[in-house]
Amino acid sequence: MEQTYIMIKPDGVQRGLVGEIIGRFERRGFILKGMKLLTVDKSLAEKHYADLSTKPFFQKLVNYIVSGPVVAMVWEGKNVVTTGRKLIGATNPCESAPGTIRGDFAIDMGRNVIHGSDAVESAKKEIALWFPEGIAEWQSCIRSWVYE
Ligand code: UDP
Ligand code: MG
Repeated sequence: MEQTYIMIKPDGVQRGLVGEIIGRFERRGFILKGMKLLTVDKSLAEKHYADLSTKPFFQKLVNYIVSGPVVAMVWEGKNVVTTGRKLIGATNPCESAPGTIRGDFAIDMGRNVIHGSDAVESAKKEIALWFPEGIAEWQSCIRSWVYE
């Protein structure tokens, strides 16, 4: 089953949106496979966003991610990478539709509350980077009520 890396960024934690965000993924039918709250050091933030290292906003982005604790999660389900991105909304919250997480809770791009992997391959890399210890092995008993 497909997995994605979802991270509630420091603003989402500070603003008390952790339960709200987890609830949206849970209610959709996705399964929580890994979760931890951690403060991020600069080198981990830089590795996570390595693809963006040449962008003018890179330093600001790294400072944002290390500015407070984040909630790192692995969510599992059919098409969870793409559907997770849809739940999250567009990168720029001004362009995120109402009903999406960013569309409901954010305004600025540098305070957009949540990260989600953009492809199955990057999800694998990000899960390995953030959960080197591995993730929980469990089967949800709601599976047959969500999938036909
Ligand atoms: N970002 C920013 N300014 C920009 C583009 C991106 O501050 O012009 C930040 C924003 O927080 C975004 C993150 O950098 O979520 C990673 O950018 P990406 O293009 O990967 O967007 P995402 O995948 O998070 O939607
Ligand atoms: Mg991205």
